[in-house]
Amino acid sequence: MSYKIPKTQIAAVVPAIGAELEVLKDYPVKQADELAPGECLVKIIATGVCHTDLHVKKGDWPIASKHPLVGGHEGVGTIVAIGRNTPVAENSVKVGDRVGIKWLAYSCLQCEFCRKGLEQACQSAKLSGFTVDGTFSEYVVSYVNHVTPIPEQLDSKAAASILCAGVTSYRALKYSDTHIGDWIVIPGAGGGLGHLAVQYASAMGLRVVAIDTGEEKRKLVLSLGAEKWIDFKTTKDLVQDIKDATDGLGPHASIVTAANSEAYSQAVDYLRPTGTMMLVGLPAAADLNANVFFSVLKCLNFKGSYVGNRQDAVEALAIAAAGKVKVIFETKDLSDLAEVYHGLEQGKVAGRIVLDVGK
Ligand code: NAD
Ligand code: ZN
Repeated sequence: MSYKIPKTQIAAVVPAIGAELEVLKDYPVKQADELAPGECLVKIIATGVCHTDLHVKKGDWPIASKHPLVGGHEGVGTIVAIGRNTPVAENSVKVGDRVGIKWLAYSCLQCEFCRKGLEQACQSAKLSGFTVDGTFSEYVVSYVNHVTPIPEQLDSKAAASILCAGVTSYRALKYSDTHIGDWIVIPGAGGGLGHLAVQYASAMGLRVVAIDTGEEKRKLVLSLGAEKWIDFKTTKDLVQDIKDATDGLGPHASIVTAANSEAYSQAVDYLRPTGTMMLVGLPAAADLNANVFFSVLKCLNFKGSYVGNRQDAVEALAIAAAGKVKVIFETKDLSDLAEVYHGLEQGKVAGRIVLDVGK
């Protein structure tokens, strides 16, 4: 099978740190004979927009991306070419396969971290929409050893946001040391990661306290399986409300998915003794201010949780394909990306926005 590959494409480009997005019609497409071994060219069908893409566009993190940059790391598309001399394993992806592109575009698979399945910590990692161009374009170069096959049952738009929001929230739950029947608090529950964390947590048999703001997000998270709701903007005493919602002792774990430092601030006060906080949201400049004395006496655990490995991606997609988790999304066009960023910045996006690129 061979595909006709154009020389140029439409792409949403950030020209420099903090600069406005430009939607270009003549962004170059790497041609089949220019692909290095291990690279593949993917024709994008749909891509989700993550709050990470907004941080990257603003340049507000302590690490910098490449420029000019095509953002995006929740893409689903078709492999239209694979670099010559790419080693073929028995279960390698092929031209014509529908695959997902996640934040971790590439890792070496040979270092200590990769060998242990901690691909996110690989020192040679390439990151979609950060150190290499991402999915806000018609074509993207990715890597055969990291693209994720998309289960047949899942429509491309429905699958897209599992590749970051899904994988990340699923993995954070997996390592949260919780068990069926435990209470879990999810600050940021109405957002992209959070609304999927609510569903993965419910699928695991956890009891969910959702924290976010506004009527739309309240209705959304309660419809997705959260048992209790706390509005962080109207509560008079967040810690007390959380304890009241969780048998007076506080939750066994919290998964912080808000892009906001306040969401981290009271964890020591509300976590149940021996509880675990999974640090997921990446506010621009924030420190974890945990009182040492009470962290020790309460035997608390704090774990950073960064996306997921290839196996986490396969598992997160399989659970979605089985119908246990659904991305709640609104569809927009690539040309609407600036407006989508504005909505994310204002906290106005309930669930996710997915861009339809494949038309
Ligand atoms: P989002 O904007 O869709 O959702 C964030 C939600 O947090 C919003 O609904 C907002 O109303 C809510 N919120 C804001 N302040 C809050 C507070 N004080 N308490 C409770 N809720 C609050 O964003 P998203 O795409 O879900 O991403 C969230 C964060 O996670 C971003 O910082 C992103 O960069 C980060 N992220 C981390 C990883 C990782 O690997 N750790 C992966 C993807 C995204
Ligand atoms: Zn993301």
